[in-house]
Amino acid sequence: MATLVKKIQLSWWDRLYFPSVLKGMWITWGHFIRQILTPTSKRFTIQYPEMKKEMPEGYRGLHELKQFEDGSIKCVACFMCQEACPARCITIEAEEFSDLNFTQGFEEKRPKVFKIDMLRCIYCGMCEEACPKDAIWLRKDYELAAYDRLSLNYGKWDLMNTYADTDGKPIQTESSELPPSPPRNFVTM
Ligand code: SF4
Ligand code: SF4
Repeated sequence: MATLVKKIQLSWWDRLYFPSVLKGMWITWGHFIRQILTPTSKRFTIQYPEMKKEMPEGYRGLHELKQFEDGSIKCVACFMCQEACPARCITIEAEEFSDLNFTQGFEEKRPKVFKIDMLRCIYCGMCEEACPKDAIWLRKDYELAAYDRLSLNYGKWDLMNTYADTDGKPIQTESSELPPSPPRNFVTM
């Protein structure tokens, strides 16, 4: 159904326009001067990137795939996060893996491929909620920039190293990973 929109008649004062411009400038200068007089620690504006904003508790920033102390990945490729993701931006391929160091204590799977398309992610935290192994966390880093779209399709190693600098941890690479288990021969009856 069509709606009639009433045309607003401007008064002669409105049609002068200058008072509105001056009023806008008054507000802008007011903010400007207040910012200058406020101590740096209490200002809303920060000198980014030299200064970083401290994000509040519960903020959902970039993901991290968590590791055990020996650097092995906690994820067991159960696909729960992929299923829970409303944006369908997680891709996982599993491989069989026996942890020879017995970090996890039993035979498991692990992700051969684990990708998150950061451009599709809506940072809802459902993957974190769904994970039974506490293996994926959304932490507080919010710096996400790249020169092309493909670079924002983060892989397993990107996700394991997202917070390596912040936590002072060594960078994990494919070469530091234990090889996958050889395929097992199943006896069929
Ligand atoms: S934060 Fe939400 S949208 Fe992003 S990967 Fe996790 S479940 Fe998917
Ligand atoms: S991150 Fe968690 S939920 Fe996702 S596949 Fe790995 S263990 Fe499963």
